[in-house]
Amino acid sequence: MVGYACNFACAHCITAREKREKLTSAEIRLLISQINKHTVKSLLFVGGETSLYVRDINTILLGIRKLDATKVKITTNGHFAITKTAAKEKILSFHRLNSVQLSYDKFHAEFLPFRNVRNLYAACKDLGLEFSVILTIESPLDIVYAKRLWGVGKFPIGIQKVLQIGKAVSNKNAYVFPSFDKKVLKRSCPNLNRIKYLPGQGFSICCSLLAYKHADNFTHTSLSKHLRSRFYGLVSKYSFGEIAHLLNINVKNLEPRYSHECNLCEYIFKKGRQS
Ligand code: SF4
Ligand code: SF4
Repeated sequence: MVGYACNFACAHCITAREKREKLTSAEIRLLISQINKHTVKSLLFVGGETSLYVRDINTILLGIRKLDATKVKITTNGHFAITKTAAKEKILSFHRLNSVQLSYDKFHAEFLPFRNVRNLYAACKDLGLEFSVILTIESPLDIVYAKRLWGVGKFPIGIQKVLQIGKAVSNKNAYVFPSFDKKVLKRSCPNLNRIKYLPGQGFSICCSLLAYKHADNFTHTSLSKHLRSRFYGLVSKYSFGEIAHLLNINVKNLEPRYSHECNLCEYIFKKGRQS
């Protein structure tokens, strides 16, 4: 994650907060050294809005020794794609990109003209880049946005639910689950085999609630320290039911919102810290 600055103000934004941190020069050097030390098959740059951080992203990319063997992707709000040419120019300002993921849903639609979706898709197609969309839903009805998007072209659309974090708390637009779905107890963290770096905080397997809401307890300034932590050991090896059992947490008859992996994970580790 390159920084929190963004030119949109979406009503569900997970990263919306007063702090405006970005990666420091020391953090950029740390990331380059860690990427070069490990086998990193893909890098995903997220914000904030990534296109506001082209210089920092390029500094990282230029420092990677085996960049040709690494897939590079950004997530963007697409604000720059006013025309296909403008979209191409911005994409080409990155040292190397293989893939562009656009965030688009009813929240982003308040700020992003739909023509930008078409322009960004067309630009990626011309440049031979993969294109996909991440669509965040407040209710199943919001999936209608996928239909509109597929009117532009054939590309993958990842669907995720609004979580109770960031602006979604004050705007009360978190996804409402009908009942507690026990199947979640057999699932594991959806971010397995990936590591996130948060500016000013550090490394974490968590890309969601624990990293953003409880960073001091679930991120580490050194990658090796994080990989050795009890938190990483539990999340990377066990299902949520198994973690709850190991931490002696009762997970029977929970509220409906704990049907989501991240909500349940936050519940278990918060309880685990109290017990
Ligand atoms: S574009 Fe992304 S980072 Fe910016 S306000 Fe919207 S959700 Fe937040
Ligand atoms: S909150 Fe838990 S399940 Fe969700 S990404 Fe973080 S570690 Fe994984």
